[in-house]
Amino acid sequence: MIKTIVLNTFFYCFILLCCRHGARAQAFNAEIINDLVHTKLDISFDYKKCYVYGKEGITIKPHCYPTDSLRLDAKGMDIHKVCVIKGSSMVPLTFTYDNLAINIHLDRVYHANESYTVHIDYTAKPNERKGIRKNEKGIYFINPQGEEKDKPTQIWTEGEPESSSGWFPTIDKPDQKTTSEINMTVPSKYVTLSNGKLVSQKNNPNGTRTDTWKMALPNAPYLFMMAVGDFKIYHDHWRGKEVSYYLDPKYAPYAKQIFGQTPEAMEFFSKTLGVDFPWNKEAAIAVSDYISVAMENTTATVFGNPYQTSYRELADQDYNATIPHELFHQWFGDYVTAKNWANLTMNESFADFGEIIWLEYKYGKDVAGEHLYKGLQEYLRNKRNFGKALVNYNYKVPADMFNGVTYQKGGRILNMLRNYLGNEAFYKGLHLYLTTNAFKNAEATQLRLAMEEASGSDLNWFFNQWYFGAGHPVLKLNYQWDSISKTATVYVAQEQDGQIFKLPLAVDIYSGGKKVRHKVWIRNKNDTLKFHSEIEPDLVNVDADKVLVCQKTDIKPLAVNAYQYFHAPLYLDRFEALEAAQKNQKDSIAQRIIFAALNDPFPGLRKKAIMALDLSDSLMKTKAEPTLAALAQNERNNQARSAALLILARYREPRYLPLFDAALKSESYTVQAAAIFGIAQIDEDKALKTARKFENDNAGELTEVIFHLYAKKADVKDWPYLYRRYTAGTLQEKVSLLSEFTSMMNSVKDPTTTQQGIAVLREMAIKYKTDGLTPYIIKSLDRIKEAKEKQNDSASVEDVINAKKDINMDGK
Ligand SMILES: [Zn+2]
Repeated sequence: MIKTIVLNTFFYCFILLCCRHGARAQAFNAEIINDLVHTKLDISFDYKKCYVYGKEGITIKPHCYPTDSLRLDAKGMDIHKVCVIKGSSMVPLTFTYDNLAINIHLDRVYHANESYTVHIDYTAKPNERKGIRKNEKGIYFINPQGEEKDKPTQIWTEGEPESSSGWFPTIDKPDQKTTSEINMTVPSKYVTLSNGKLVSQKNNPNGTRTDTWKMALPNAPYLFMMAVGDFKIYHDHWRGKEVSYYLDPKYAPYAKQIFGQTPEAMEFFSKTLGVDFPWNKEAAIAVSDYISVAMENTTATVFGNPYQTSYRELADQDYNATIPHELFHQWFGDYVTAKNWANLTMNESFADFGEIIWLEYKYGKDVAGEHLYKGLQEYLRNKRNFGKALVNYNYKVPADMFNGVTYQKGGRILNMLRNYLGNEAFYKGLHLYLTTNAFKNAEATQLRLAMEEASGSDLNWFFNQWYFGAGHPVLKLNYQWDSISKTATVYVAQEQDGQIFKLPLAVDIYSGGKKVRHKVWIRNKNDTLKFHSEIEPDLVNVDADKVLVCQKTDIKPLAVNAYQYFHAPLYLDRFEALEAAQKNQKDSIAQRIIFAALNDPFPGLRKKAIMALDLSDSLMKTKAEPTLAALAQNERNNQARSAALLILARYREPRYLPLFDAALKSESYTVQAAAIFGIAQIDEDKALKTARKFENDNAGELTEVIFHLYAKKADVKDWPYLYRRYTAGTLQEKVSLLSEFTSMMNSVKDPTTTQQGIAVLREMAIKYKTDGLTPYIIKSLDRIKEAKEKQNDSASVEDVINAKKDINMDGK
């Protein structure tokens, strides 16, 4: 699963913050009394009340010890009837229900070898549940009565971590696995999707249709899914298996462009792991208002708003890592599942690692290198991550486990393990892990055992350090050359608090045009590494494969960095050299690195070099100009071209107007936005006229630049468009455009306009309260109040006061 926070789509994070204060840490595995065997559901929906009517036949058997009781998670339901099925009759059972679980007293004691089926008649009422965050409902009715214009009517589910019991009674734990049959009765105009195979569709006399989906292989309850709506299906295939993409008809023409890499990724992962894609089909569905980025339900992956996109938005994405992430889960998560949330690494670190190996295979080492680096920064950004071990039994609620340790750090730890063992042993180990634990659950220990069996190595040290220990090494590297003894020395200090790490390292010595690799170990707080060399090395490249999860201070002269930029092969080699150069731009060696990087083969580094340029230095400014102009014109990568246009804009040279005009023809919104920004630096009226031409087709940064220019001009004539575009925008757009939307209201001296805008903000603050948006809206309202007081617009001031009252009242 990839979760998101509304304030930054690309920040892999979670919105399920700890909300049940006082919950005890989960320092143990919950006892398993009963096991799920099969789940049969007959489901229909009440779109008006947002109810789910369910009849469930749930087949169970005691796990080990005889028992006469059964506890099922069932959240916020009305339980009408609970019976045990005896042949053709149903025998009613006594039960108690506390709104979270049904405790059933069975008709007799059952033994471990006996399975029995309980029938439950229930109504799930997701929108009437109290005291939960809105992403814990399990099932979601989107625009159920079609009242919101331009928004499709859909139903979809999201079960992880323990929300599936919001729409059907189950034992809602990851260490349960069950086969399933889901019969969904829906208005016949709609399409359905669920786990497994669509085995029948039956039209009913009342204008509904019943679709039956069967999942013949066992999987965990949190991976159950349903979706209902007006979706167009694009049929693809992989080795004779069905691969399909479900999209809102508006985005259906781009289905292959959005999801089309799926079959190739299925082939790549199947071959790499030596375990073929284990399920009958793979479907990807893009739904509206999804509460997360994506979720790996078995055979039916759900994707959120960023996957409702046009080919023009796709042109602004260099690559997609979410599709391989979710697909890799079909093996790591769905086929072999983390035994408990404390071991979520067995799902999420693997999915993150799946991104890395897919990018490496599909786009090459530089793309994978950049992804590795960015992910590491994501982990490092939050210092609270440093105290958490990868296997962590000390979480309070399962949602706490969805963090930068489980995802990014864990993915990079697997990448280190691959590097240490070598590809052959590592993938042999993964094959063993998958086949040994197929359709079962696993903890980190199962992975260690598989890797040890495959490689013959003892890996206790690795797992103790990286899986059960917290933090990372903070290294300081110093170098020395002794021409008498012909010895290059590297002093490595571990400066972190907490554990001292044991690190196997590759060190490449570059001298006399040759590269010699040494494999060494770091074991102590301070280590001294010595290497013989006939002549002084041009470069001693520590962690030459750039796999280490660490922070480091690498003290070496610019000349060595230059050598590293031009001779060491990896993304991070060049990136680090460029970083060093960026800090010393007056130095001619640094300039040589930066100018070389402006033409680096990898667009990510070209972009970094462009952004690194210090234009406050007039010599640098003059020297960089022709290269920047050329990049602004000819750069093929949209992100790098946009960066070049934005920097060139700072020259404010009218002679570049034709260049900016030409860039407006790009299919990339990002490039067009940069072009309009460039024009605005030279001729604001022209920029405004240009912006107006893009009113009907804009997204991302282009929308932002239009809002910026309109807010700056403050012409009341532009308000109707701004208002329409803002209210029709996605939540993410509303967040990123909030400041400009507020500025426009402040500058336009028109009470009607202002009050219309205040109403929008008031509604948003109430609607998205649980997403953490409200404090930002309150700040905006305060800005408006201040502006309107100065303008003596007392009606608008009064309106702000009332809006704030309404916002604060709601939910109290
Ligand atoms: Zn995931």
